[in-house]
Amino acid sequence: MGQMKIGAVVLAGGKGTRMHSRVQKQYRMLAGKPLILYALEAFEHSQVDHMVLVVGQGERERVCQEILGSCRFDKLMAVTEGGRERYHSVYAGLQALQGCDYVLIHDGARPLVTEDIISRAIQGALDYQACVAAMPVKDTIKKGDQDGFAAGSLDRSCLWQIQTPQAFSYSLIRTAYDWIMEEEERQTGITDDAMAVESYGGCRVKLVEGSYENLKVTTPEDMVIAEALLQCRGIDPESELL
Ligand code: C5P
Repeated sequence: MGQMKIGAVVLAGGKGTRMHSRVQKQYRMLAGKPLILYALEAFEHSQVDHMVLVVGQGERERVCQEILGSCRFDKLMAVTEGGRERYHSVYAGLQALQGCDYVLIHDGARPLVTEDIISRAIQGALDYQACVAAMPVKDTIKKGDQDGFAAGSLDRSCLWQIQTPQAFSYSLIRTAYDWIMEEEERQTGITDDAMAVESYGGCRVKLVEGSYENLKVTTPEDMVIAEALLQCRGIDPESELL
């Protein structure tokens, strides 16, 4: 990668209310260790130079002691506290990650990210300045109306489910987020980083290949699926599940 510095922001600042669990999903035990450690390990073993972990407000000390205490991550340069919405947490992570030419932003709730996906995202950022891991949708997607009736179908052949990592030139994503944070109305509906670049304009976002395994653990059944997928990897790391 030469002199290029590549950073990663790993997000763990969410409340995980859809998990209906006392322990936030990113700290729940998954196949023997806290869920968040999987993403940190994947980035630690990747071409990324530095990473920042973003945790919830008031949680820094507890996470450092209870979750990271016995781990060694040489690339982890800061643990910082995020904010109310995902974009607040991303912004805190970007501010903590100075001095990088490119940055990958990753949902810590995606423990099945692999070094291959990370490499493709890095290459996408180098080639296009902005890219997201994505996969073609498998289901038919419909719009629904307020009364709960189908209100039209979208053409599946051009629909993608968007994952993370999302990777960008640092100056592009930082400028886009600076612009978004200036005014509250620009923040409406920003649920991923590509949307920040799309609203700011000036650069198209490339879709790079993610993986159907790279799921975001959101609801209780996702824990079961993630655990099963991790066990398959343990049994035979070369196995092609798809
Ligand atoms: O809420 P959502 O599922 O979109 O969250 C995606 C990722 O962003 C999760 O890893 C979550 O911990 C993180 N997040 C955050 N700060 C928030 C909300 C979500 O770091 N305020």
